[in-house]
Amino acid sequence: MQIYEMLIDGAWVPAAGGQTFETENPYLGAAWALVPRAGADDVDRAVTAAHRAFRGPAWRGLNPTARGHLLRRLADLIAADADRLAAIETQDNGKLITEMRAQLRYIPQWFHYFGGLADKIEGRVIPIDKPGMVNFTREEPLGVVAAITPWNSPLMLATWKLAPALAAGNTVVWKPSEFSSVSALEFGKLFEKAGFPPGVVNILTGFGAEIGEALVTHPRVAKVAFTGGDRTGADVYSLAARGIKPVTLELGGKSANIVFKDASLDNAVRGAVAGIFAATGQTCIAGSRALVHRPIHDEFVGKLVALGRAARMGDPALDTTQVGPITTRPQRAKVLDYIEIAKTEGATCVLGGGPASRPECGNGWFVEPTVFTGVKPNMRIAQEEVFGPVLSVIAFEDEEEALEIANDTQFGLAAGVWTQNIGTAFQMSEKLEAGTVWVNSYRATSYLSPFGGYKRSGIGRESGLTAIREYLQEKSVWFDTVGEVANPFVQR
Ligand code: NAD
Repeated sequence: MQIYEMLIDGAWVPAAGGQTFETENPYLGAAWALVPRAGADDVDRAVTAAHRAFRGPAWRGLNPTARGHLLRRLADLIAADADRLAAIETQDNGKLITEMRAQLRYIPQWFHYFGGLADKIEGRVIPIDKPGMVNFTREEPLGVVAAITPWNSPLMLATWKLAPALAAGNTVVWKPSEFSSVSALEFGKLFEKAGFPPGVVNILTGFGAEIGEALVTHPRVAKVAFTGGDRTGADVYSLAARGIKPVTLELGGKSANIVFKDASLDNAVRGAVAGIFAATGQTCIAGSRALVHRPIHDEFVGKLVALGRAARMGDPALDTTQVGPITTRPQRAKVLDYIEIAKTEGATCVLGGGPASRPECGNGWFVEPTVFTGVKPNMRIAQEEVFGPVLSVIAFEDEEEALEIANDTQFGLAAGVWTQNIGTAFQMSEKLEAGTVWVNSYRATSYLSPFGGYKRSGIGRESGLTAIREYLQEKSVWFDTVGEVANPFVQR
């Protein structure tokens, strides 16, 4: 059993109360590391350190070019360590090594991009209407950012927050998910190595239910950047509201993959599989509803089921595996519950429909790739996020009905449109209520492109130019050049 410490004020420390918790390998179904279980005292230690670092000369006095240089040095260190970090992610959260490796090799781009942006954060000179006055703006960091992240794609989703937050000059207290702490702690060592001053990045491991409130409501936390489920997101939002703190919330989804009869069917089927069986369906952008034009419904389902059935399940550390385990025991129970709910609601299970007991799955927490047809848009299986390899297929008659069904959910994270008709593609991309729309593609993201949710899928954007603004505040500065204070009883 490996024993880890967490990062506070540049030092590796146990929890103040000495408590730890076990982290489990989802493929082996067994614990493999012990991680500090932070308490309220640790939250205060970490936030105080981050606040001191924010005010201190080592970080505040660093010019933006040098700050950008630190981020880019970090990017190079991550690139050099990518495959090792990917292996730790797979051991910790059970996601495929092939996907984790690709993510880890791509993560440096965020630090390069936002590192490059650090010295291009500029204010404006306002052509002010008051005689004798000069008015300009400054873009300033907010202070201590609490970054709270989930267990799917742990390092990538943290990077989406840390890179812009640091580029803008903030300091960070990062609380990774209790189900994926180890990769965060290994990642933390690289910040030290890159030369970030102590306290600029702190990592607190522990349970959201135990330290989340103390962190979000800590008076010295200036902003909360959260990725996770919509219910937790709503709690975090209301806790942050007590302190009038800005938030970004990246929450769940019930995204529609919409297939028209003129689509390239083979591509659309592959897109549907990418949307729901890749990452074992554990992605916020999972295309968990396939809306299929009625004339091609049966052919589409036939091809989909064949591809889903052929997916190789097993050890996520093997390059040949295509579907790995569910990351956590409670999540597996939740996915299996939803499968039962769908059956009770009257949907027809045409693939999978329960736990996987293939020999190559060992003691892992597996669920068979599952497809339901005959799903009605108002069923729970069509409305609620499952976060597992469970697809609801819904037939539609025309474009209007496809749009109505696609938009008829409380979520609005992403959507896919499969058609050869450019007019249909354009109309759909305009009318879909989703933060991301892919046409004849699915599940592409980039450091260059804004990502975020409509409706209950979230607030704010990550990645791209927009993201840096989430970590800045604008100050308006006025100078009098005349040297005479006019009538003080009248507003100037
Ligand atoms: P979760 O909401 O259970 O936990 C997310 C994080 O919040 C964890 O670090 C957890 O410890 C912490 N937390 C829990 N209770 C808290 C509290 N009261 N106060 C503060 N923090 C608290 O989510 P999860 O199960 O880890 O992740 C899966 C969810 O994340 C899914 O709903 C998925 O759609 C969503 N997600 C969204 C995106 C996106 O970018 N939109 C990306 C990935 C995952």
